[in-house]
Amino acid sequence: MCKNNVMKVFVMKVAIIGAGTSGLSCAIELERNGIHPVIFERNGFIGEIQPHVSAFLGLITRPASDPIKFMDKILGIKLKPLNQFRKVIHYSPNNQVAVTGHLGYFTIRGMGENDVKNQLRAQVKSQVHFSSFVHPEDLENEFDYVVVADGNWLTPTRYGIWQEIMPTWVKGGIFEGDFEDHTLKMWLDNELTKGVYIYLAPYSKNKAVIAHVVQNIEHEELNDYWHRFLKSREILKKYNMLESWELPHHAGTVTTPRVGKIYFAGAAGGGAEPFLGFGQFNAVVSGVMIARSIAQGTDINLLLKDVNKKSEELKTLRPLMNAATNKDFDRLMTIMKTPGLRTLVYRTDIDIIKLLSTGLKLVSAENKKQASQTKGGK
Ligand SMILES: Cc1cc2nc3c(=O)[nH]c(=O)nc-3n(C[C@H](O)[C@H](O)[C@H](O)COP(=O)(O)OP(=O)(O)OC[C@H]3O[C@@H](n4cnc5c(N)ncnc54)[C@H](O)[C@@H]3O)c2cc1C
Repeated sequence: MCKNNVMKVFVMKVAIIGAGTSGLSCAIELERNGIHPVIFERNGFIGEIQPHVSAFLGLITRPASDPIKFMDKILGIKLKPLNQFRKVIHYSPNNQVAVTGHLGYFTIRGMGENDVKNQLRAQVKSQVHFSSFVHPEDLENEFDYVVVADGNWLTPTRYGIWQEIMPTWVKGGIFEGDFEDHTLKMWLDNELTKGVYIYLAPYSKNKAVIAHVVQNIEHEELNDYWHRFLKSREILKKYNMLESWELPHHAGTVTTPRVGKIYFAGAAGGGAEPFLGFGQFNAVVSGVMIARSIAQGTDINLLLKDVNKKSEELKTLRPLMNAATNKDFDRLMTIMKTPGLRTLVYRTDIDIIKLLSTGLKLVSAENKKQASQTKGGK
């Protein structure tokens, strides 16, 4: 208590670097706890210049099998998806398999009011300082805590906490044509992706995005992979391309989500998972959990325990995806056609990591056996 009976209230000063998915989720939860952060955003707007449709895939977000409901009920973050998707078609070079069910959600990414980040922004009262490119070092003296939510591997690399898993380049194209608006298509072809994948996600029945993710290549090589894909799958014969864009994207983990008063959220906190590179869900979870850690003093490692465990499990699939041949993928599709199995893959109560890992190991063992038999037979 001070003179004049006026209570001195300690107001915690928190800076957030990046008005993206994790930064804005963090701001929502901080405000709920009575803390109004100062948000710095390098762009002059919220959202992304490169339009695309992204997915919340139940396979990745489980045990939260319905990520939209989970974010609302458990994290207090409301997001309106573009659509629910009820079918995923997996293509290998010579095979394909379709899985149906409640598999996940499509969300809009771009600049409109339905875009994920603009939806989050509408739930934040604190001011966003636009066109403010900042580093934690610029802010740490002025603030009690700094949350790095810049979606980037560079800051955690500078802090010596980044562990690279999958450096990729992504080429995206927006196409006009006939599409099934509740269907996600995914191509597995290691000659075109080097261990990652290509997906098609629809905006509507007549517009979709195709994103081609290639690992461990130089930027200059990306177009060659893209054109080989377009040609081999006759994409330009079926659809009309309206625009295209290119982006780097790295999946990795961090050795710690906190260095002193600096917290690392979202992709900067190792939130882009190492199997498919999905990171929206983890960005929301880590943003909210960092806010709770700051406001309530709870150990952030404890709050992120489940996310980190899941990431460690998914990490075990990465070497298998990297080493898989196209023949392995063809065989995997056949295995997935086994009655009952394809529904199992997407069921929420099954240990999917174990199942996929066993499937991939089985096909590569079978291939090795066949190769040695062929050699022996010669
Ligand atoms: C093409 C593409 C497709 C994807 N598709 C999917 C998908 O389908 N499903 C999925 O789950 N995940 C997907 N991801 C991954 C997912 O988008 C990210 O993991 C997630 O958005 C990361 O959230 P974030 O908060 O860490 O970063 P972001 O949401 O990227 O936000 C970072 C913000 O920080 C700002 N910023 C950067 N540096 C500074 C600075 N120094 N100062 C101030 N501001 C700064 C940026 O402008 C940006 O607004 C995709 C990623 C890409 C690139």
